[in-house]
Amino acid sequence: MIYHQMDKNDAAVSLQTNIKTGLSTKLADERRKKVGRNELSEGEKQSAILLFFSQFKDFMVLVLLAATLISGLLGEYIDAVAIMVIVLINGFLGFIQERKAEKSLQALKDLSAPKITVLRDGRWMKLDSKDAVPGDILKLSSGDRVGADMRIIVSNDLEIEESALTGESIPAQKHSDPILDENPSLGDLNNMAFMGTLVTRGNGIGVVTATGMNTAMGKIAGMIQTAATIMTPLQRRLDQLGKILITVALLLTVAVVLAGIFHGHDVYTMFLAGVSLAVAAIPEGLPAIVTVALSLGVQRMIRKNAIVRKLPAVETLGCASVICSDKTGTMTQNKMTVTHLWGGGKTWTVTDTGEFSTVGKNIEVDKEKTLYQLLTFGTLCNNAEIKITGQEMLVEGDPTEGALLLAGAKAGIDKKALLEKQFSVEKEYPFDSARKMMSVIVKGPSGDRFVITKGAPDVLSLKSNTILWEGKQKALSDHLLQEVNGAIKQLASMALRTISIAYKPLKGPIPERAEEIEQNLTLIGLQGMIDPPRPEVKAAVAECKQAGIKTVMITGDHVDTACAIAKQLGILAKDEGDSAVMDGRRLNELSAKELESVVDNIHVFARVSPEHKLKIVNALQNKGHIVAMTGDGVNDAPAIKAADIGIAMGITGTDVAKEASSLILLDDNFATIKVAIKEGRNIYENIRKFIRYLLASNVGEILVMLFAMLMSMPLPLVPIQILWVNLVTDGLPAMALGLDQPEENVMQRNPRHPKEGVFARRLGWKILSRGFLIGVVTLAAFVIVFHRDPSDLPYAQTIAFATLVMAQLIHVFDCRSEISIFSRNPFGNKYLVWAVVSSALLMLVVIYVPIFQPIFHTVAIEPRDWLLILGLSAVPTFLLAGTFFSRKRR
Ligand code: ATP
Repeated sequence: MIYHQMDKNDAAVSLQTNIKTGLSTKLADERRKKVGRNELSEGEKQSAILLFFSQFKDFMVLVLLAATLISGLLGEYIDAVAIMVIVLINGFLGFIQERKAEKSLQALKDLSAPKITVLRDGRWMKLDSKDAVPGDILKLSSGDRVGADMRIIVSNDLEIEESALTGESIPAQKHSDPILDENPSLGDLNNMAFMGTLVTRGNGIGVVTATGMNTAMGKIAGMIQTAATIMTPLQRRLDQLGKILITVALLLTVAVVLAGIFHGHDVYTMFLAGVSLAVAAIPEGLPAIVTVALSLGVQRMIRKNAIVRKLPAVETLGCASVICSDKTGTMTQNKMTVTHLWGGGKTWTVTDTGEFSTVGKNIEVDKEKTLYQLLTFGTLCNNAEIKITGQEMLVEGDPTEGALLLAGAKAGIDKKALLEKQFSVEKEYPFDSARKMMSVIVKGPSGDRFVITKGAPDVLSLKSNTILWEGKQKALSDHLLQEVNGAIKQLASMALRTISIAYKPLKGPIPERAEEIEQNLTLIGLQGMIDPPRPEVKAAVAECKQAGIKTVMITGDHVDTACAIAKQLGILAKDEGDSAVMDGRRLNELSAKELESVVDNIHVFARVSPEHKLKIVNALQNKGHIVAMTGDGVNDAPAIKAADIGIAMGITGTDVAKEASSLILLDDNFATIKVAIKEGRNIYENIRKFIRYLLASNVGEILVMLFAMLMSMPLPLVPIQILWVNLVTDGLPAMALGLDQPEENVMQRNPRHPKEGVFARRLGWKILSRGFLIGVVTLAAFVIVFHRDPSDLPYAQTIAFATLVMAQLIHVFDCRSEISIFSRNPFGNKYLVWAVVSSALLMLVVIYVPIFQPIFHTVAIEPRDWLLILGLSAVPTFLLAGTFFSRKRR
């Protein structure tokens, strides 16, 4: 018999497992050794050797290699070997960069790998889904991606969306009864759950029947696509720009070659010089450096608790103009403690140490019937558990429910004891943020069944028609409803999160759907709990404001609770009133257009359902905002996907929310969003910095050659020198710029416009002007020295080489700031200082160490000429830095 045909207990027996305690860790390890990890095998990866050789597929590099080969055959051995070595080193560096980028992307993938909740050795634990083995007992909750194929053994309203397997997008309702059908299709197997499908509602438990390639998903593994690497907008733009730059560089190179030949240089020399120049001037390494800068930035973010799932988000982060954030757990600590209770017109308070009192007098809970019932039912309609470890009482499960348990425990009400002696829970209708309620069906000591429902007070009031008032059941008249609403408002305005509790007897069979029982209830009362704001959020909100980013709170909580917290955090001004706040009901009434017209003024959306989030994202986007939106549940996924930056919670987030997101907060903390935005802005700025440096350097290299040829001069630089500059002077400092710290004012500027071009904010001008000057001073140094002694061309070339290198190494410090070299400590980036020092040393080695001199065609420079070199090479950076002062003074 197959698992779906068996009774659930028989299925467990045939899988040699125990439903109550799960597998032992030892047994699970043994089974894993036998059946392998619970993974789908991936396609072939590009091998390291192929990746290495792919570095040389560039057309110009091939031409250079061919040219080198020819020059080798013609007897220029030293030149040929030196050029080969440089090309090889260049390729090797490119290979290392790409490997690094690939590795860090893989590490990211591993970090966001799905988890399972599994019963091992009698304890529920969270493990990587690849650790599951047949026979494991797994828990499924709304929002989970199912970790393996399993036979369902408990279903509480469990619904699973299986479109990935069956194509059916309407979720299937799951149950635990056998299905006797001999040959059912996958879509009919409603007592099974399949790897890779999504739990959209309810919760349940299942026993794993198959893992890895043995699952239904594994069998159709061909269908599964590995996600393609997505290019960021900047990478795409650079790709296009790269093509233009290649054309321009090639045209200029051809101009250099033709001018050289026209002025009498021999064709062979000019050809080699031209090809070297093309290789040096074409910024073929730019995309690789951008990837490295992005992935290094992403690694920095991980250290600060933000995982970027989609690389483009790094750039979009810098454009964010609105952050829509959940309140509970993101802005607050999610450490709930019941402090106030209300029932039948009476308010009670409870202290940390467990004293209950009313109107200033201590009381004993069991003498207050309504209070006792409120606490008991709050404990019964509850999935959390209290764990005592040493001195500490820890809550496992939803913090809201934990608070209700702890309040009960303070009155001596213990869930375990209640369930052992008096009550049994027969069915659960799990909480969801759209219904804002949870219910259980409980069998009492006399065998009678009753329903307990708890949930958002305003919702529960609508579902109740009676109320317990002074020990009696009374109709919920308008007058009493007003009393209830007054109590809700009073607790909420103290920033308390409120939960109502209601009940009713149940006659007849147990209904399948929550909607059938959550009506005609009898209200018992309210519990109000504090959830203190996270201490760092207030400062983060203020910093975002300075950075031109608006913070919007979106919460399922009561309007008054939300406003009270928003005021504490500075999201609402102390005197800001209703016009900045909107509740879910009003949101429902407004059309998309109407919402757009007011959305800019709203800072708090309260009592919203997850579906509302999408409407809010759309309205903000239509107003031109770049929206970051947080979420954790399965219903949040559409909004997370639609937002420009979808953010999921690492701790409380469901798999569905995480998969839809582009950023995951490992600590669920709002302040981490701010940190990520700052990092995102910085990464983009750093990319701009090295684009600026590299392109200005290339412009300088081309112009010095072009001017010399047009002016009918000898070659100011020999090919190997040009290649050396490309490798050393351009390479190391550019990488170091990618690691630069943010400028101080990075969070004092407005967000970047998403359509901003690569050369925006005068970057194009800076590249051309500095590049032009680098070319001019290099040529000047060459001309001065050549005129002094026309018989010593190699000496003049060495001077030009040193001037070009030094001009670039000084200019690199200017690239650290959008404003000027003087606006920040030029030596603040230690990587850059090391890169510049080592480039300068390597230059000195090439010039002064005798064995390198014939290879690089260099001659030892006399000390007095260094004054000329340093004086001229400082000009490109400092000449135009003067414009900074004159602009500042104005
Ligand atoms: P957010 O995380 O978006 O800031 P939230 O967590 O407060 O909001 P929900 O979890 O949707 O939003 O809760 C909405 C309301 O539902 C709460 O104000 C509370 O009254 C009620 N509620 C929350 N958790 C439970 C629960 N486990 N059982 C019953 N009712 C609950």
